[in-house]
Amino acid sequence: MTAEAAAPATGRQRSSRQVFPMVASALLVVSAGLWVPVLLARPHVPLDHPPVYAPVLLAIAFIVCELYPLRVEVRRETLMVSLSELPLVIGVLLLPPWMVGAVYLASGLAVYVVRRDSWRNDMMNLALIAVETGAAVAVVVAIDSATAAGDQVDIARRYLPVAIGVLLGALISALAVGVAYRLMGPAESLLRVIARSMLTAAVIVGFALVGFTVWTSSMGGPVLCLGLVVVLGLLYRSYSTFLRQHADLAGMYAFGRSVTAVGADVDEWFGLIEQVRDQLNAQVAVLHLTDQPSGPRTIAVGPEGPLTIPMPPVGDPLLATATNAGAVAASSDRTTDKAVLAALAARSAWDVLVVPLRSGDRDRGYLEVRDRRSRWGRFSDDDLQLLQTLGGHLATALDNTRLVERLRHEAYHDSVTGLRNRLGLRVGSEQMRDAGGFGGVLLVQLNVLGDVNSALGHDRGEQLLAAAGERLTAAAGPGRMVGRVEVDRFAVLLERMPEDAALAVSGAVLEALGRPYSVDGIEIEPHVVAGVALREPSESADTTRDSLLQRAELALLAAQTKDEHLVVYRAAMGEVYRRRFQLVTQFRRAVETGRIILHFQPKLTLTERELTGVEALVRWMHPEYGLVSPAEFIEAIEATGSIDILFSHVLDMSLAQIARWTRRGLRIGVAVNLSVRNLLAADFPQTVAAALDRHGVPPELLTLEITESSVMAQPEHSLPVLRDLHAMGIQLSVDDFGTGYSSLAYLRRLPIDEIKIDRSFVQGMVTDLGDLAIVRAIIDLGHSLGLRVIAEGVEEEAGRDALRSMRCDGVQGFLLSRPLPLDRFEAWLASRTVPAERSAGEPLASLRVRG
Ligand code: C2E
Ligand code: CA
Ligand code: CA
Repeated sequence: MTAEAAAPATGRQRSSRQVFPMVASALLVVSAGLWVPVLLARPHVPLDHPPVYAPVLLAIAFIVCELYPLRVEVRRETLMVSLSELPLVIGVLLLPPWMVGAVYLASGLAVYVVRRDSWRNDMMNLALIAVETGAAVAVVVAIDSATAAGDQVDIARRYLPVAIGVLLGALISALAVGVAYRLMGPAESLLRVIARSMLTAAVIVGFALVGFTVWTSSMGGPVLCLGLVVVLGLLYRSYSTFLRQHADLAGMYAFGRSVTAVGADVDEWFGLIEQVRDQLNAQVAVLHLTDQPSGPRTIAVGPEGPLTIPMPPVGDPLLATATNAGAVAASSDRTTDKAVLAALAARSAWDVLVVPLRSGDRDRGYLEVRDRRSRWGRFSDDDLQLLQTLGGHLATALDNTRLVERLRHEAYHDSVTGLRNRLGLRVGSEQMRDAGGFGGVLLVQLNVLGDVNSALGHDRGEQLLAAAGERLTAAAGPGRMVGRVEVDRFAVLLERMPEDAALAVSGAVLEALGRPYSVDGIEIEPHVVAGVALREPSESADTTRDSLLQRAELALLAAQTKDEHLVVYRAAMGEVYRRRFQLVTQFRRAVETGRIILHFQPKLTLTERELTGVEALVRWMHPEYGLVSPAEFIEAIEATGSIDILFSHVLDMSLAQIARWTRRGLRIGVAVNLSVRNLLAADFPQTVAAALDRHGVPPELLTLEITESSVMAQPEHSLPVLRDLHAMGIQLSVDDFGTGYSSLAYLRRLPIDEIKIDRSFVQGMVTDLGDLAIVRAIIDLGHSLGLRVIAEGVEEEAGRDALRSMRCDGVQGFLLSRPLPLDRFEAWLASRTVPAERSAGEPLASLRVRG
């Protein structure tokens, strides 16, 4: 094993930084131990006073052997075999040990300085030389002094000691190299390294001794030797050319594969440039990227790993020539052009190859290598060609990554605003999470888009969105990821932060998005609401973006329903949401399995105490939540479009019940509540008519209750429907009266029979004179329009009495009865009512409530 073989493979250099000085120091200690006794012993050698040319010849031999190691292929592995044992054997055989050591060290130093390897590698290699020569001479001196008789020096008797010494040196150095590589990471087995280098050393030593014998045996010896060397040299040359081409091909193949695997991240390119440097056996390889979106970039790799190298100045003659000629090779000993020499000097290089990176007709940048290492001479034409091919691969890779980047961008971004889309936000939040910094989501809803779209067209709507996106980016603060998650809903990803900081960010965003927009000269006042969800300090980083986004959505929902600008998510909302979600998804099934039932609450006239009918109030017997009130689930199923199913079901049950009472000779009407959405169904009156028909129920026994606010919501829609229903003979009642804002004029036009004073006034009127005034006004107003007026929510006798004195027509409330399930309502009927006298021809009996 020799110094050349110890030059480490690139890529391990980083760890060789620590390992080499350490191993080298150990070797230097060992070699000192070997050398000191040798130098003290001053042994006799065949040439005690050699001619001057002897050390010179030895030095030349060493240098040649170091500079031109043989590349030998053994079982698909390329070994670098230096022949330096050859001169070492001859030197130790003939010359004084100090001279051999000094010459070897000096020539080694010369070679390494010329080769400009890193000082750590040089130190390692010199230490190997010291220990190899030291071991060789120490063994020879020791055996000599033990066996030699007197001052007589017999060359033939020195063969064995020399061979043993040199092989021992080789063993120590192989051991050192093997250990060094082992320390630098997983390496091949120490035994194999040693066996291999001992084998080559033995061959070379044998070769040297045989050669020496032949050389000195006769006059023709030298000729014979030289002839043999020439023949072997020629053989090796053709073999090594073959090897080189093979290595280039293999390298190209590996490079091509790495190029296709390299990602969009330019930092991954260091590995590629390292391969270029390796392939061309260059000191430094540089990639200049001139049209990166983030500006020009230079990626360079030198003997010690990545280098920071400035981009060559504009007009750099080498880059310019490369662009024009397609490639350039420049070396300081072959040009007199001042500009080129200056460009080389600026690179601290004497031999440079540059090829432009082209794809299509665009210049993407340049690939450059500087100074060959390990061998004398410049880069060859083959090298330039190789570099061009590698450059071609790189240009293609650049194109591909560009394409991938664009596709990725499109997949992760929203085309209208240029902000991230849902997917982009998810990826962003995952990145933040992996960095431990994902802390929350802010959602902002811009509640004006629908109006802009319908009034001004979609283009204007998009303008508005783009403007909002710009404001959002600016207001969210530098570096925060922002996106659009729904048509008019924006998101900001928050890092971990305390709640007041999150509120400050949210406030700034709300303020920015809430300022008026000017679209085509039209000033638009937006309405913005926001919801924030923050990761609890106790929650793990795995809280996915989705759950935080969901929470923020919930907070936003809460903000919308509470009519607040900003709501922060609280854990309790999650429970409500989960329940709501379950109710929505389970509703249809609940209808099918009969879990949706009716409770009945009686209505009574105040003068006659006559039971005018009952209101049907829906209940959900939920297996998990018990009896769920309509207040909780109706809004939810309204939003999901299941409200028609509810209405049909309730109507059906109510009509069936009316029919049963009718068959028993009882005249009990049922009031069914409507939701605003029911009125919007085009064939609503027909549906109701068909149901009446099916159950054979006269229409006047059915009352439909519509809240005041839902009649007012879309009067142009509901009015014709109500007229149809009214014309059919169905009773119509306006529920929750007083809470909406119906004008008197409007009320006059409504085809209704009854108004129900909202229970808030009825309950308030006992203590609040204002409420009392309102109740009185409603009663008078109703009567003046010829309507029946019912008070709902009557809980106290005082209230009932006051209502009677104000001539309210009827009451409904807990005072009389709570809403009851059918069996208990029947019991109530039986105990609390008696049939009224029937007028002649009247088949059904009204009921009178016992006082
Ligand atoms: P609503 O139409 O105003 O119904 C009257 C509500 O007041 C009922 O609540 C009833 O239990 C309650 N109530 C009756 N008397 C008193 C009283 O003296 N004091 C107090 N504090 N409350 C009283 P419920 O049953 O929880 O229904 C709530 C709302 O759900 C109803 O308000 C109605 O708008 C809606 N709803 C009920 N059933 C249906 C239905 O089948 N379809 C639709 N669309 N909505 C329904
Ligand atoms: Ca009602
Ligand atoms: Ca009501």
